[in-house]
Amino acid sequence: MSSIAFIGLGHMGGPMAANLVKAGHRVQGFDLAAPSLELARQNGVQTCSSLAETVSGTETVITMLPAGKHVISVWSELVDAVPAGTLLIDCSTIDMESARKAHALAAAKGCPSLDAPVSGGTGGAAAGTLTFMVGGEEDVFAGAKPLFEAMGKKIIHCGAASAGQAAKVCNNMILGINMIAVGEAFVLGERLGLTHQALFDVASVSSGQCWSLTTYCPVPGPVPTSPANRAYEPGFAAELMLKDLKLSQAAAEETGAMTPLGAKATRLYQLFADEGFGTKDFSGIINMLRDKSESGAE
Ligand code: NAD
Repeated sequence: MSSIAFIGLGHMGGPMAANLVKAGHRVQGFDLAAPSLELARQNGVQTCSSLAETVSGTETVITMLPAGKHVISVWSELVDAVPAGTLLIDCSTIDMESARKAHALAAAKGCPSLDAPVSGGTGGAAAGTLTFMVGGEEDVFAGAKPLFEAMGKKIIHCGAASAGQAAKVCNNMILGINMIAVGEAFVLGERLGLTHQALFDVASVSSGQCWSLTTYCPVPGPVPTSPANRAYEPGFAAELMLKDLKLSQAAAEETGAMTPLGAKATRLYQLFADEGFGTKDFSGIINMLRDKSESGAE
């Protein structure tokens, strides 16, 4: 059993902290939002009213916050509040520059640190089946692995500091592009008189096979558990996909990598969000593709 401070108890952090409690750890939690704090308290988290109180007496601090600016703001404060040697882990999805800065803040204080973004969404957070992509030193990773195992199923050490964020941004760029590709194929199939089921039956066992098709099919019917069957309620909201695609494009710009489809996918998700669908599941972008086909626009 260890003592853990958990900061950011939202849609993801709340259930992750609850799973640490279930695994027998003592968890002190903090969030700016009162309802998140109350829910965490009901799940066995000892709720605190300040960052300093939250980290007091803990060996490990985990953050699960919206974006890089929140992580830097919280880590800047918490390095002053923890003793050297406290393990700092950030599970948020953030830009590469902020990830590097967070590691640097920890190193300056003499604290080991890991970036450990996740995939698997709110369902995976609740079920304890998240995938963790971890960046940081091998021995620090090995020491923290049991904590990740209390919250996830697949725990992958991706390399040195920030490698977890790099893997996350690349994976989600694939996902964003793939979902648009699958949506385009269904819309074209409709125009060619193909049923959704026929296209699914062929592509799911052919070279077009991918997760966006076989697990998360963007049309209702072939995969009963996909958000398309429940009016595109997320799931994974389009605004979160847009956030991740923007992170991929910032990284591409920084490194000079050529990502033309990542850039196009970013623009299409921006348009989808601008049209008011940011809170719908990201697979709903097929409806925008279909609507724009019908109106003759791009
Ligand atoms: P969320 O908005 O539900 O939760 C973030 C929480 O952080 C909020 O409760 C907010 O009050 C709190 N917070 C913000 N600033 C704070 C501060 N200074 N101190 C304490 N608390 C603070 O977001 P989420 O869906 O839980 O996502 C968290 C992170 O996980 C994001 O980086 C997101 O990109 C990533 N992520 C989300 C999903 C998903 O499906 N929701 C999937 C994978 C990764």
